[in-house]
Amino acid sequence: MASSSKDNEPQPQPPTQAGGPIEDDVYFMAVALMFAKKSPDPNTKVGACIVNQEGNIVGIGYNKMPNGCEDKGLPWKRGRPKGLDKKYLYVCHAELNAIMNKTSMDVEGCTIYVTLYPCNECAKLIIQSGIKGVVYLSNKHKDYNETKAAVKLFRSAGIEPRQFLAKREVADFLASIDPFAE
Ligand SMILES: [Zn+2]
Repeated sequence: MASSSKDNEPQPQPPTQAGGPIEDDVYFMAVALMFAKKSPDPNTKVGACIVNQEGNIVGIGYNKMPNGCEDKGLPWKRGRPKGLDKKYLYVCHAELNAIMNKTSMDVEGCTIYVTLYPCNECAKLIIQSGIKGVVYLSNKHKDYNETKAAVKLFRSAGIEPRQFLAKREVADFLASIDPFAE
């Protein structure tokens, strides 16, 4: 940029505008979906992919038990059983793991692609980490208090989560990948 001055620095473009609004969204949501597949949760598999302002992936995650605790008999039971026999007390959500696994110094100004609308705990993490964009696929838990609280948290923080709607494009994109192609 020849004409830039201190007062008129070019603003970094959000990642969805780097290579066309649909294409980058499709690519990053596909990555989140691929990592959701790795989740050992038998019922709800969630993936997350953090993208910086240059359009580079700087963190991925999926829901799993804490590192080193995977085979220690922690429960994957869902629903709301009483006592200690419920997964919610132990599992690390995809957003937490993506932020903790970040490959950059920080995730300030990044966008997180998640396959499920974040819960309130993850909303706190997203806000505190400086992530500014949230793109989600499913909102099937929108009636849960955890989700309603997340909506309030995002609204308070000035973050406007955006639903990803190009499901067909993701399916076409994944189907187009041919590992045997030269
Ligand atoms: Zn969460």
